[in-house]
Amino acid sequence: MAVMDGCEAKFVTPVPEERKCPVCGEDVEVFTRKGRIIEDSTCPKCGHVLTAEEQLEPQARKTEK
Ligand SMILES: [Zn+2]
Repeated sequence: MAVMDGCEAKFVTPVPEERKCPVCGEDVEVFTRKGRIIEDSTCPKCGHVLTAEEQLEPQARKTEK
């Protein structure tokens, strides 16, 4: 499964992963990076949205309060 062409290896590639929908228990495919959901995904069965989670890596933070 670990197909690396090298050109995108410097990026931490989002990984498709199945998460259980907390509402109906359906497996929902989400994209994760280091185990965190990076993108909202909608359950195909009940429409519940699995929201993106906070990333572990410190990213450019907004300094405004
Ligand atoms: Zn669901």
